[in-house]
Amino acid sequence: YEKEMKRLSGLELIAQMAAGISHEIRNPMTTVRGFLQILNEEVEFKKYKHHLNVMIEELDRANSIITEFLSMSNTRTSDLQKLDLNAILHDIAQLIKVDAFNQNKEIKIETNDIPELLLNRNEIRQLIINLYRNGLEAMNEGKVLTLRTYKEDDWVTLAVQDEGEGIRPEILEKLGTPFFTTKEKGTGLGLGVSYAIAARHNAKIEIQTGREGTTFFVKFNSHFVPK
Ligand code: ADP
Ligand code: MG
Repeated sequence: YEKEMKRLSGLELIAQMAAGISHEIRNPMTTVRGFLQILNEEVEFKKYKHHLNVMIEELDRANSIITEFLSMSNTRTSDLQKLDLNAILHDIAQLIKVDAFNQNKEIKIETNDIPELLLNRNEIRQLIINLYRNGLEAMNEGKVLTLRTYKEDDWVTLAVQDEGEGIRPEILEKLGTPFFTTKEKGTGLGLGVSYAIAARHNAKIEIQTGREGTTFFVKFNSHFVPK
């Protein structure tokens, strides 16, 4: 038990250090990005436009890796409120549909009657975004991604079902490991962040995968009372 306590405080220390270092790294990055933007607008630098744009994009990528890493290393309990998961899902449905439309893929959203849950709105949005993006990225054009909510006994489930090619066992066991990615431009942080968010909601994530596709189930306990 004592060991567990020590481990936790160690993690918290790392989380605090990560937050401090991230801040110190971000400040100079913001300055560099600002100057790059100025150069990008200069006529004299026209022939470097492509290089400048790549530099700005790469800075933005580094920045989003820091954001994702921070939200994963955050071990504090979130601010939870009684919220309607269906409403959160409908709020970002438009964003999801635009994304899918641009990739020639289809979205189905199916909400059922569920009780309110103790949720952190921003974190749940992030969780849904991470899962739907992975779903879309796993599918070829013309395929359908389904997001569904439903209640079963004491559990309220959010299911994100794709028609991709499934996840091979050797990949499956690595899911959630920070920086593990099979994508050329992936960060490998989306699932790690999702698992951390689920843990802070006392929810569990289950995966069903096969040749017809993959479903991520996020299962919330409808009687969850935070300590
Ligand atoms: P990223 O999307 O940046 O690669 P993630 O943590 O979101 O990072 O996912 C890690 C890896 O898990 C992905 O690179 C992919 O190999 C696998 N993966 C996640 N979701 C799916 C899915 N729905 N179908 C197939 N593979 C998936
Ligand atoms: Mg991802």
